[in-house]
Amino acid sequence: MVKFALKITAKLENATDLQPAGGADNGLPYLFKLQCTTCQAVSDNICLSTSDPSSTTYKCKGCNAQGSASLVIGYGQPVTKSGQYATLMHINCDGFEPEDFTFSGDWACRSVVDGKYHEFQFTDGKFKKEEDQIKMIISNLEATFVVDRT
Ligand SMILES: [Zn+2]
Repeated sequence: MVKFALKITAKLENATDLQPAGGADNGLPYLFKLQCTTCQAVSDNICLSTSDPSSTTYKCKGCNAQGSASLVIGYGQPVTKSGQYATLMHINCDGFEPEDFTFSGDWACRSVVDGKYHEFQFTDGKFKKEEDQIKMIISNLEATFVVDRT
């Protein structure tokens, strides 16, 4: 089994503390693909939930190898600075490597103007809010899976 850390970053304009609404461990659907370590075939999107982080078994479409993936909660950190990578989730994988995370579900960030949290959903990989004094833009979403050797 290999431990992976899912790290995310974004361009934050007038915003800080980007994270899933309610925190990384609170019900966000974690959508990503699995690449088979035997034949390199890539799966369709799979969806894991923090409400049921137990190990889920998968079978490769290419070579029928069996493996599993599970979320490991308790590692999520908000993105506080533009361009800074923050850990969102740890994922244990056996026989597969995770890739191609999709940003979905409800997210939140804090305005640097009023200090309040705003909840939103990404549209076309972006979030933009402009009303009164509050102008926030979150763009350039990126996610990467790195092997966690700790
Ligand atoms: Zn395979």
